[in-house]
Amino acid sequence: MEYSKQKLHEEKVFKDPVHRYVHVRDQVIWDLIGTKEFQRLRRIRQLGTTYLTFHGAEHSRFNHSLGVYEIIRRIVDDVFNGRPEWNQEERLLSLCAALLHDLGHGPFSHSFEKVFHLDHEEFTQSIILGNTEVNAVLKRVAADFPKKVAEVIGKTYEDKLVVSLISSQIDADRMDYLQRDAYFTGVSYGHFDMERILRVMRPREDQVVIKQSGMHAVEDYIMSRYQMYWQVYFHPVTRSAEVILTKILHRAKQLFEEGYAFKQEPIHFYSLFDGEVTLEDYLKLDEAIIMYYFQIWQDEDDELLVDLCQRFMNRNLFKYVEFDPAKEYKKHSELEGLFRKAGMDPDYYLVVDSSSDLPYDFYRPGEEEERLPIHLLMRNNDLRELSRESDIVDAISGKRRTDHKLYFPSDLLYDETSKKNIKRQIRKILELP
Ligand code: ZN
Repeated sequence: MEYSKQKLHEEKVFKDPVHRYVHVRDQVIWDLIGTKEFQRLRRIRQLGTTYLTFHGAEHSRFNHSLGVYEIIRRIVDDVFNGRPEWNQEERLLSLCAALLHDLGHGPFSHSFEKVFHLDHEEFTQSIILGNTEVNAVLKRVAADFPKKVAEVIGKTYEDKLVVSLISSQIDADRMDYLQRDAYFTGVSYGHFDMERILRVMRPREDQVVIKQSGMHAVEDYIMSRYQMYWQVYFHPVTRSAEVILTKILHRAKQLFEEGYAFKQEPIHFYSLFDGEVTLEDYLKLDEAIIMYYFQIWQDEDDELLVDLCQRFMNRNLFKYVEFDPAKEYKKHSELEGLFRKAGMDPDYYLVVDSSSDLPYDFYRPGEEEERLPIHLLMRNNDLRELSRESDIVDAISGKRRTDHKLYFPSDLLYDETSKKNIKRQIRKILELP
């Protein structure tokens, strides 16, 4: 029998706290889960440094990837199956793309991408198309199958309906991570009626649309996304941990470039420092390896590196104040000078961090981030863009909210064993008690 049609003798199930069960019947899916590139996702947390704010947030990208797969499986097997606008031939492709959509994520993706100029989407593409176990499984389906999976994830696949299942403003990816992240952080936001949304989803030409009767369930989903961004994803304490993590990576890179002799050679970082990361090097990175280095770097001779690693490992994070970079640049440069005088390198100890989010956007062609709007399927079969029908969504759509904070180690500013007067001056400017 063709590999693409092979079923397992018995259905396998994964117990899942969000969807109760994740069901696997296709041999291809089972084989993909068993590859070493997919198993690696168990060792990468879904929410990076968030566990330092919400201690439950230890869940991995592996959990989330299975969850996205399960949502898509239910859509294509239960909701879309048999509908004339849906091509059931795209079923396996949709399932594989769902399962593998985050495959290229590395440890603490955010900080690593920033410091070493990496792009997890590019790595997802190279894992699917390169010399990997995942590629070998996909190739058994058909020679051009890996390319198709990569195209769906890269949003260039010709059947845009398949693309929109996995990435749009109401897609399986978001529906899974909102619920999963809410569950593991323990917050009360992030919950919405996914059962209802799945039931009112319809395939329509090149996109997934929502029956008009499901509008309120979608409103709830959009509000929960909005709240999760500000209450969880952009939490200032999580960002503080991320600032420190980023600075550790900067410091290690700088030391390496200056020819500093590490007590133990950071071999896993060499290609990152050199800026030539091969797929093989990249796949060896996970959060266990990174934490190992942070642990041993606490015994290095470089005071800055030691301090930053101790802060990260022992959760002695930077404090923050509200800060407006556009209006307060003078204050910032004054502080930089004072930090230097106090013996604290402002490049590491005085950091501006900004977060911003667009909760929902209507269609604006040509914009940098072109996002397809959510369409409601009206009773007369017309399509209406969601914010035209929903006052709640209209109130927050197209409005980008940005938040800037200034981070610094307040414990050092209160240490009056040296540079007492300068530190007092800094505290006064920062309006610290
Ligand atoms: Zn995802």
